[in-house]
Amino acid sequence: MREIRKLSNSALERFTQCPLSFFHQYVNEERPGQEGVESFYADYGILMHFLVEMYPRTNFYKDSLPFKPSNFVSDGDINGVLNGFSNQLMEREDPLTLEQMLIIYEELFPMIDFPNQEKRDEYYEQGLTYINSIPEMDWSKVVGLEAKFKIDLQNGVVPLKGFIDKVERDDKGLIVTDYKTSKPYSHNAIMAKPQLPIYGMACFLMYGELPYKYRYDFVRFGKVVEVEIPIERLTEVKNVIKFKYMQMLAYQRQGSFPAQYQDFYCKNFCGFNRLCDRYKQFNGG
Ligand code: SF4
Repeated sequence: MREIRKLSNSALERFTQCPLSFFHQYVNEERPGQEGVESFYADYGILMHFLVEMYPRTNFYKDSLPFKPSNFVSDGDINGVLNGFSNQLMEREDPLTLEQMLIIYEELFPMIDFPNQEKRDEYYEQGLTYINSIPEMDWSKVVGLEAKFKIDLQNGVVPLKGFIDKVERDDKGLIVTDYKTSKPYSHNAIMAKPQLPIYGMACFLMYGELPYKYRYDFVRFGKVVEVEIPIERLTEVKNVIKFKYMQMLAYQRQGSFPAQYQDFYCKNFCGFNRLCDRYKQFNGG
């Protein structure tokens, strides 16, 4: 088995969903690829994240916010293409304009493999509306874009790493924003997730203060949901992460990660169901 060297929000989410799926994604030495998972959702997210990051970065924060060029540049994959565009945009003088964002959208949207025309049309129109609104947004308070963080959880727990889409500072303090291309979550669902408390801890380390407001910007629906998160919740999440890490180590010592069957997740998001006896038990094969 591979050693667990770091944690991330997505690794923790996968572990919570199903330890066996986490094993295949992060620990299995054979590194099996995911199969049968729709790619359109992730690819569309990558495209929208690129535009909403690069517009303010090149127009207002070219020299003041850190940017690391990516080595992974490729023509055959939307992520690789966008990495190449990011590198070029940061090298040239001119900022990214609305017109250029629309050209990039028109060029790259066809690379996304949607399951049907209806979904394609729906996502296309929603994306177009959002892109047209990007130049109208208030970009004057940004202090972080794709802000990279590393949280040392101590007590022998490996570091927790990730990126925050946007951090702003207004006269009351810090505001954290995460862009989502999913349907809007309810307030309760947001409060149950560890993602925003993790970002709160990260802000404390990076900026020396806790955000007073956290936002999910549901880009396809023009809806922003804001929450406040008390410091006790950050402590609670930190303890839950430590506990989950101990569980990971225990499963590693035992030499097996348990399968946690949830029909919808197993069929649509796991990507490793071909390797899963529990899946075969429920679905034949
Ligand atoms: S198919 Fe379901 S139970 Fe099996 S590994 Fe994937 S998520 Fe876990």
